[in-house]
Amino acid sequence: MTTVRVLGGPGTGKSSLLFEAAATHIAGGLDPESVLLLTGSGRMAATARGALTARLLGETAADLPVLREPLVRSLHSYAFAVLRKAAERAGDPPPRLVTGAEQDGVIRELLDGDISDGAGAWPRELRPALSAAGFATQLRDLLARCAERGIDPAGLQRIGRTSGRPQWVAAGRFAAQYEQVMLLRASVGTAAPQATVPALGAAELVGAALETLAVDPELLAAERSRVRLLLVDDAQHLDPQAAELVRVLAAGADVAMFAGDPNQAVFGFRGADPELLRADADQTIRLTRSHRCAPAIARAIAGVAAGLPGAGWPTLDGHADDDDIGSVTVRVAESAHAETAMVADALRRAHLVDRLPWSQLAVIVRSASAAAALSRSLAVAGVPVQAPTTGGPVGAQPGARALLSVLEATVAGLDGERAQTLLTGPIGRVDPVSLRQLRRALRRHDAGLAEALTGSPPALPVTLAGPVNRVRAVLSAAARSHRRHRDPRHTLWQVWERSGLQRRWLRTAERGGVDGALAERNLGAVTALFDIAEDYVARTAGPSVRGLLDHIDALQLPPVADIGPAGAAVAVLSPHAALDRDWEMVVIAGLQDGLWPNTTPRGGVLGTQRLLDVLDGLGDEVSARAPLLAEERRLLIAAMGRARRRLLITAVDSDAGDAVSLPSPFIAELAAHAGRGRPEPPSPEPAPPVLSASAVVGRLRAAVCAPDGAVADDERACAAEQLARLAGAGVPGSDPSQWYGLADVSTDEPLWSGVDHIVDLSPSTLQTLSDCPLRWLAERHGGTGARALNSTLGSVLHALVADSGRAESQLVSELENLWAALPFDSPWYAANELERHRSMLAAFVAWHTASRHELTEIGTEVALDGVVAGAADGLPAVRVSGRIDRLERDAQGRLVVVDVKTAKSPVSKDDAQHHAQLGLYQLAVSAGLLNDGDRPGGGRLVYVGKPSATGATEREQTALGPDATADWQQAVQVAAAATAGPQFVARVNDGCSHCPLRPSCPAHAPEPS
Ligand code: SF4
Repeated sequence: MTTVRVLGGPGTGKSSLLFEAAATHIAGGLDPESVLLLTGSGRMAATARGALTARLLGETAADLPVLREPLVRSLHSYAFAVLRKAAERAGDPPPRLVTGAEQDGVIRELLDGDISDGAGAWPRELRPALSAAGFATQLRDLLARCAERGIDPAGLQRIGRTSGRPQWVAAGRFAAQYEQVMLLRASVGTAAPQATVPALGAAELVGAALETLAVDPELLAAERSRVRLLLVDDAQHLDPQAAELVRVLAAGADVAMFAGDPNQAVFGFRGADPELLRADADQTIRLTRSHRCAPAIARAIAGVAAGLPGAGWPTLDGHADDDDIGSVTVRVAESAHAETAMVADALRRAHLVDRLPWSQLAVIVRSASAAAALSRSLAVAGVPVQAPTTGGPVGAQPGARALLSVLEATVAGLDGERAQTLLTGPIGRVDPVSLRQLRRALRRHDAGLAEALTGSPPALPVTLAGPVNRVRAVLSAAARSHRRHRDPRHTLWQVWERSGLQRRWLRTAERGGVDGALAERNLGAVTALFDIAEDYVARTAGPSVRGLLDHIDALQLPPVADIGPAGAAVAVLSPHAALDRDWEMVVIAGLQDGLWPNTTPRGGVLGTQRLLDVLDGLGDEVSARAPLLAEERRLLIAAMGRARRRLLITAVDSDAGDAVSLPSPFIAELAAHAGRGRPEPPSPEPAPPVLSASAVVGRLRAAVCAPDGAVADDERACAAEQLARLAGAGVPGSDPSQWYGLADVSTDEPLWSGVDHIVDLSPSTLQTLSDCPLRWLAERHGGTGARALNSTLGSVLHALVADSGRAESQLVSELENLWAALPFDSPWYAANELERHRSMLAAFVAWHTASRHELTEIGTEVALDGVVAGAADGLPAVRVSGRIDRLERDAQGRLVVVDVKTAKSPVSKDDAQHHAQLGLYQLAVSAGLLNDGDRPGGGRLVYVGKPSATGATEREQTALGPDATADWQQAVQVAAAATAGPQFVARVNDGCSHCPLRPSCPAHAPEPS
């Protein structure tokens, strides 16, 4: 056997050399079925298959025989083929491949079982995390890495014991249980009759194929004698077991060629190791000329690669086209907004001025969440984007949810809540104001929302009847199919067809823009839903709609998004997703300190990365940082290597407010390579005006609406004329009828009316309502931002202090375990916040200890729900629902309400007396809503973020007496009456700086001069 190593940087023609080798051997008379090209992934295999077929068709098409064995396979596909052949030889049914989502479902079921049994097998500090979706994913990842390394459950337990890692011992026990369940499912299974052989996960395939070849020498000999020319592409992505399978096969081949680039080995977190490229070979070919990258880009890549330990190739020359040596530009923005504008402007100029098709532009960002955020901003700035789906499991995506809610109503019946979901979802499309009008109209017929959708059609005004009839039609179609016991796919199809969503979303998708992108995402989710339904029916005996809903519920992973070559859109993707693709222009955005390089240890609470280190023989004393840093550098090289002619690299340098963002250390290095040795990194730039229709419209509008004397008359007239032209061409925002503040008021009806209306309030919304009714209106009807990290941190702290029986050290250890799973953008911020939260836990424990002489705990997270004030004097009745952080009893037997606050600045003592949240809690106590008594003993705000001599700073509200109770009742009713509108006051208050309405708030609008 002759072994050849082919090493080279991005675009140096490694794959082409392999294709050439295949074509030459086949042209020289080698049977095509004796050639096998293996790749690291299915997607790469598809690309290679196309390229090799084109190469062969170019020369030997006439003589090419019909092939029974594919020339190109991913390594997993080859391993699967080996298992199938072995099964055929033994007369067994073919092996079954279990999907990642299905594995995830089984793992979650088993974890649920562990939780109900007390989770005694798991280390104490991990128990609170067992129910989290992220934990199941981390566990699946750990089991996959073990399968790839050939570590069985007993082996994992042994390693856990010898390394003092109880979480690996527990995971090993879990793995044994998982294996048994998979075997059981296979023999009697949920998916009978097909499931009569053990189902294998992708990570187990290679190990199983190796075992099969080891115990079946005839099969091994047959494979070895068949494959005479073995070619392996991207060998740096193979894990040790995959490399072993290649070696086993190569031992029988005449020639084995392994091509790859150790400098682009970026799957270390999945256990990949470029050892095959480092092993001795009979011949080594080093390719140093990139046929893809322009000289400027190749030079920058070589410069970054020089920083790697033991670099895999010393130089990289580029390929110039018509004297165009390409460009590498490094720019730093002074804010995140400025960076987005910079990227959007660069992309739009490349498309509009340089005439590059959108599909030849790409943006690479380090993380999937950053990709999602940047995609939205770019879409708003007029860049059509093609981004991966990041919205969680299929069942949670709005497009699929719309159809699933109909199926749920069909099998479980329609209640008020489901009816509201259907009416306000994509099928009904009823907005909150119309929903109130609909409820009021139905009340006149003594009907609720559910009756309107199922009983005889009520007489409604035409604007309200439309949505009701739409939903009724879809429900009837689903019910008809279900009654006739049709296949669940048929019922799903009926829902889809009657909903009319297909036409609607297709039309919107064609129009593009933000709505178009959303419509495309919805269509993608529905396609994934139908795929799942197809798969479920194919694998299940006696499929049903209920079974389909349960199956989808159990799938916790997002569907695999096919990010194949796009149409007219810019790809926004992670460096890993970009690996086998290239574009004329690539933007690498968000090169921030702490984010890229990200040297936070991987593997989460289970320490998967540490396990791989232990398996590689790295002891605790070896720094985990150095290999991570090298991998991040390789990832940057891989991302840079996707660009053919132009490369733009951006970062943010801002210390405004709390959100400090510093450029990555790579920025200065890249700037030096980009600017032929320029020593200084670039200075931060403000947001440039984006070359987009909306920016031009904005500038023209500013001129037209400028105050008298601010612009010359002819300038204003010219701007007005241009706006009229744009309006005539249908450019959004150019017609004054679309301008904010100029449209007619859509309705002046109150949100509710009638003496029998009960206003539902929670103590926190009462606070918002008292502070600013306009903010309450916006937030109550969906106008809140995404759940911020701060609010997650607040929930973590509240959850920890809810169990006050634990010592401070236990709380801190639990906090530290949870920390790794929180989505911090940078390690230094995570470390600061961890310290702050440790001191908050200490403050809480000190406060708790100091307050025991006067307070006795009754409960934590105590639920309350009930009416605190009846309708009177034209004011509405008020129902309160919520949870009290802590309920305590004082020495006089009265109930004291305690609310734990994580804010750093306490309210004043005077403000605490008028604190609406505490007032409403006390009112709830005196209204008898709690089982433990009805004598309020006051309320306390405990600011654990502001330590004091007693542990935490306390603010008190005195106990409500009869007069104060009556005053609070009236205050609450007056506030509740304000929820009717139709006018809502914008009241400036201390919370304005955190208000989502602030940019468009009338109370903060500049005074007209
Ligand atoms: S910015 Fe202030 S005044 Fe304006 S809506 Fe928000 S809370 Fe109310």
